[in-house]
Amino acid sequence: MPLPKSDKIWHNGRFIAWDDAKIHVLSHVVSYGSAVFEGIRCYELPDGPAIFRLDDHMQRLINSAKVYRMELPYTREELSQAAVELVRVNGLRHCYVRPIALRGYGELGVQPKGCPVEVYLACWEWGKYLAGSDDGVDVCVSSWNRMAPNTLPAMAKAAANYMNAQLIRMEAEINGYAEGIALDPSGYVSEGSGENIFVVWKGKLYTPPLSASVLPGITRDSIMTLCSELGLVVVEQDIAREMLYLADEVFFVGTAAEVTPLRSIDRIAVGNGKCGPVTEKIRTEFFGIVEGKIKDRHGWFTPVKAARPTPVPAGR
Ligand code: PMP
Repeated sequence: MPLPKSDKIWHNGRFIAWDDAKIHVLSHVVSYGSAVFEGIRCYELPDGPAIFRLDDHMQRLINSAKVYRMELPYTREELSQAAVELVRVNGLRHCYVRPIALRGYGELGVQPKGCPVEVYLACWEWGKYLAGSDDGVDVCVSSWNRMAPNTLPAMAKAAANYMNAQLIRMEAEINGYAEGIALDPSGYVSEGSGENIFVVWKGKLYTPPLSASVLPGITRDSIMTLCSELGLVVVEQDIAREMLYLADEVFFVGTAAEVTPLRSIDRIAVGNGKCGPVTEKIRTEFFGIVEGKIKDRHGWFTPVKAARPTPVPAGR
């Protein structure tokens, strides 16, 4: 899917033209993967565009940067405000927002301290992430594991982690699957290359704990909140691979994938191969909220039109 250009990108407090958002090939990030980033959806609600869980995403960006000793010169509030202004100046009704903080051009060695931290925010129009996802997708268990603890930190959303994600995703697609599920280094279920996973088994939901090398997904957190409100029990525990085959229902969650049922895993049908009733109930609630049919009772949305027009100081 080619990237549809929008007009402006935010760079260190200033709006620049989309085509001017360039970095030098010898920027630290290019050789060493030293960037942290976010992926956020802005939905079209009846009152206008609104960004889903914006502050939580910006807090995760700050957390990811903290792990990598990367000093971000902006507060969470400033970053959130910049995202709102970005969507507004680009005049988009719904889009994907990509904040990224990277180590730029300076010195070139593994030690990054001589390289400036550059912060960019971009947004563009975006549709479904997993093709045919409403009816359920066919996935496999990957031959690639997620990172072992004390190697690349899974709780940070860092660019380097996505080399592992690429291996998972490429292998899956080459073999005719929509996505791969990676196991953690102990062989328990971890997550998809870009999604957290939930299993429905005997009336309860199960999801891997954060110790299973998973990203602390914001959709995962939203789904856990909705489940408790719907009276559904969610247990965070290690999930054996075979539970994927025996489960009644399995679904992916994530900003891009939203709530996507899995139809088969390794060519074994999940349940009866259709979206099951628990997944359907959760999808109805989730899509009801993000499509504006159900009231945003959690304060998950930041409306774009209500943004304060004060610009964030440039060039910090
Ligand atoms: N795991 C990985 C590896 C991801 O890249 C994503 C997408 N950010 C997720 C899980 C889901 O996280 P979120 O719900 O915050 O988008």
